[in-house]
Amino acid sequence: MQVFERMVKSMKVFKFGGASLESAERIYNVAEILRDYQGEPLLVVVSAMGKTTNDLEKVVEYYYRRLRETAARSLNTLVEKHLQLAQRLLKKDEAAFGSLRHLYHEMEWQLGEKPYKPYDYYYDQLVSRGELFSSIIISAFLNQEGLNNQWLDARTVIRTDDTYRDGRIQWNMAQQQINEKVKPLFKKNNLILTQGFIGSTEEGATITLGREGSDYTAALFANMLDAESLSIWKDVEGLKNADPKLFNDTIPINEINYGEVIEMAYYGAQVIHPKTIKPLQNKNIPLYVKCFLNKSLPGTIIHQENGAAKIPPVIVLKKNQALITVSTKDFSFITEENLSKLYNIFYGLRIKLNLMQNGAISFSCCIDQNAEKIERLIKSLHPDFVISYHEGLELLTIRHYENGIADKLSTGKRILLEQKSPQTIQRVLKA
Ligand code: ASP
Ligand code: MG
Repeated sequence: MQVFERMVKSMKVFKFGGASLESAERIYNVAEILRDYQGEPLLVVVSAMGKTTNDLEKVVEYYYRRLRETAARSLNTLVEKHLQLAQRLLKKDEAAFGSLRHLYHEMEWQLGEKPYKPYDYYYDQLVSRGELFSSIIISAFLNQEGLNNQWLDARTVIRTDDTYRDGRIQWNMAQQQINEKVKPLFKKNNLILTQGFIGSTEEGATITLGREGSDYTAALFANMLDAESLSIWKDVEGLKNADPKLFNDTIPINEINYGEVIEMAYYGAQVIHPKTIKPLQNKNIPLYVKCFLNKSLPGTIIHQENGAAKIPPVIVLKKNQALITVSTKDFSFITEENLSKLYNIFYGLRIKLNLMQNGAISFSCCIDQNAEKIERLIKSLHPDFVISYHEGLELLTIRHYENGIADKLSTGKRILLEQKSPQTIQRVLKA
């Protein structure tokens, strides 16, 4: 028992995302990375390959709009791509091909059925297959390459409520399943391979955890297995103080604490899924962001650092924002009563407020632009409030801002709203 405890304690969790799995060459590369850790207890979480999730989202949309032929054609193209990749990677693995075909037939069958449940339910049943396809292929490939591994269906352990597309983890149940089903696997095999992003409800229906949720899955496994660390393998060298796709002269960050990263992710930095940090922080598990294109690069360590490492200004630019301003019709104040009414509406529609501000009779907030949600929001607010809104905006957030930087980054843009604290400045901008 003691030996087992020690073994589990020193285990690591790795996560490989879509970009690291998008071609045969990239998958060879994953095997090369894993070879360095052969013999060590390791749980690997994979997401769907390349842009599979986007493609599957289209299949669901066609299906729900009853465009049966188009849905079937799109699905066929996507499955063909996976089968071709599997043929390149696998010499002979009838079992793997059998599983892929079985998944495909299940999905085809689904497309033939008339939808009668909510959209989000079908979304999860179909979109989750991307992770199953990828994990089946990768597991078989690694076994063939001598990296013996045990494939694990994450749905048997990641237990959630039934909020489709945004499954909320039932911690106790999930922990119990992991204790019973995952920990014993390590007695037989050092390498376990499973899927990110997917789980199941108490009734056994498949659920997803929200887009880009594989990071979160990896953090859940790390937490519940008391892992020594989590490494997320990405196509970047590590964290930087701004998105290099949007800004020049970005500064690499080698070390940063959980608090800073959770803020960055919350404000919209695309580095890591915002929910990833909490499960790690709660157990003081360090998170390494590593580059799969060059495994010898140091990357970034995110942990509970003691000293206050000097952090450069951290810049996050969130595009496609809408600014909604709500005023009371009868000039009543925006006090607790009205605020709670407003928050309930936002909560009910699952709209996340990226920034909010209120005055005597008005309340403004910046949200992600989503035509369908905004329409529903306006409908819900209409009886009591006057609403105005601007679309096509940007939300600029700068932590640890220095003099002049916000103005420099707002040059030529109109500032619709600003909020400032000693740590952080935020501006809603119109380009
Ligand atoms: N495949 C899912 C997505 O693209 C989950 C993930 O990649 O983390 O959103
Ligand atoms: Mg992905």
